[in-house]
Amino acid sequence: MSPAVLQPWWEEFPGRLEREVAAFHDLGLEFVVDEAERARGRIVLAGKYRLSSGRELPLAIVYPDTYPRTRFVAYATDRADRVPAHQNPIDGNLCLLPRGSLHWDPAMLAARVLAERLELIYTPGGVPPELEDAQGEPVTSYLPYVPNAGIVVDEACFDLVTGVSHGRLKFVVDGEDWLRASPADPHAPLGKALLVEVRDRSGTAIAASDETMRVAFTGPVIAGVWERLDPAPDAGNIEQIHERLRALISRAPPKIWTTRGNHRFLFAGVVLLEEGRQRRTNPTWVFLLARQRRSDARIEMLPLRALRYGPVTRGERIPELAPLREATVSVVGLGSLGAPLATTLARSGVATLRIADFDHVEAAGGVRWVSDLEGAGAAKTMALRTLLRRNYPLTKVETFDLPVGHVARSRREPSESSLLAAWSDGASVLIDATAEDNVSQVVSAYGDRLGIPQVYLWSVDAFGGVVVRAVPGKTGCFHCAQLHLSSEFGTMEGMPYAKLSEGRRVQPLGCADATFTGDAPSLTPLADHAARVAFGMLCAGAAGGYPAYRDDLFVLRLRNPDGSLVTPQWTSYALSPHPRCPICNR
Ligand SMILES: [Zn+2]
Repeated sequence: MSPAVLQPWWEEFPGRLEREVAAFHDLGLEFVVDEAERARGRIVLAGKYRLSSGRELPLAIVYPDTYPRTRFVAYATDRADRVPAHQNPIDGNLCLLPRGSLHWDPAMLAARVLAERLELIYTPGGVPPELEDAQGEPVTSYLPYVPNAGIVVDEACFDLVTGVSHGRLKFVVDGEDWLRASPADPHAPLGKALLVEVRDRSGTAIAASDETMRVAFTGPVIAGVWERLDPAPDAGNIEQIHERLRALISRAPPKIWTTRGNHRFLFAGVVLLEEGRQRRTNPTWVFLLARQRRSDARIEMLPLRALRYGPVTRGERIPELAPLREATVSVVGLGSLGAPLATTLARSGVATLRIADFDHVEAAGGVRWVSDLEGAGAAKTMALRTLLRRNYPLTKVETFDLPVGHVARSRREPSESSLLAAWSDGASVLIDATAEDNVSQVVSAYGDRLGIPQVYLWSVDAFGGVVVRAVPGKTGCFHCAQLHLSSEFGTMEGMPYAKLSEGRRVQPLGCADATFTGDAPSLTPLADHAARVAFGMLCAGAAGGYPAYRDDLFVLRLRNPDGSLVTPQWTSYALSPHPRCPICNR
């Protein structure tokens, strides 16, 4: 154990503990310090709180080590004093203040907070909704769970047809070691399982997870049993949930258990209604994993968290991006800008992502890529696809081995033009993160011909960079942007550049090509900005959709030419057709 950095709070704040006790005394109450607890290093005040009805509530006020920076906790210690809301149904601690830490002020005293709130909690009608936090209290959030795993449940598997009360379940597990780990082991291997199918008692599937989710789960199939808990146990009696699950497991026929090595496994689930949002109920799942070692009569029961998942549940956090769930985005160039950008697009819910590159993943290149070792040595397309499918399975990822400008050695290889056509056709936006002018000219030509808007992004020696939006028929083209940005034909000033650009290049040992030096946080702002620009394009015209920028060309400056830092500066411009552009002035 490390020695304490701060003194005990009652020494750090002299007189504070005395004021806590005195505040109870002012209310005519006797709360005393538990000396045995103090000897063990924490302060607990114990006493009886008297409500105006004359009813007395035995309470224990527990002060955290970090008091008064963080709030005290009050426990109603008598089980008969449990209330259906505003109290943890397992531990008995009372919810006295809204959850956010801003609702706790270090100047508050426990006695005064109790005086303001306890009468309300113990009024026969409970706390009026207008005085509550506008949020639900899901009872299942109070249950204990193993710390290393959970069950992913497709949002479609919650609303089961009424009248069906029990049946079988099917799961696919990801990672297998966690199934055998000790629940007490804090370093147990991580794992998860997907609820694949819910069947009624005759074996007919009544709900199933989306096929696309299964790509993230590569392990064995394990069976389960389920029933509906109706009525749901009240909050004061949620232990009943686990009792019902244990009974389900003990009733299950032995043949449906799944044997793997020296163990056999069976999942059990119950579906019940709980308060998901303030004063509104919704169905929820609770799971146990039963496991038994071959040589052991004992069956262990591991409680597992249910994790609601699907496009709607993800989308609740990013409602402006709902149109992305119908969009196809094509990205070429999966380096230190394109790979994080593609990851952000998948994370944001793009339906289909087409990713093109021809390079492989250098393990040490992870200093500014999305990983060091996941996919090291593999083609960037395949490595990124694997990473995205494991993490964002709802996004379909298509890969293109596409060295633009490469002349096929044999006629058997797909032609460059057929690959480019497949990469671009039907896409909502084309994104070029190659920082190669000739590739950008090709992307520009395809976008122009197919009427697809484009985004270009590149870094300038990690001293800053540029993001360009080109919309056929509305803005200038990529070549126009180059002309506007050039010192010869452009008007834009203060472009980032490195005075000693050559000094910022290096050929790392083991690498076939020289590269620039630069850190990831000097690059990701460009990828993030390109994502915002793309969001605006993908959501154009949708009610409540992500707004679009007014300008088209964005320049980021992070450093002065001598290498000294500037506070990041974005400047933006409209991209008008350039009078010298041979493409726009055909
Ligand atoms: Zn042009």
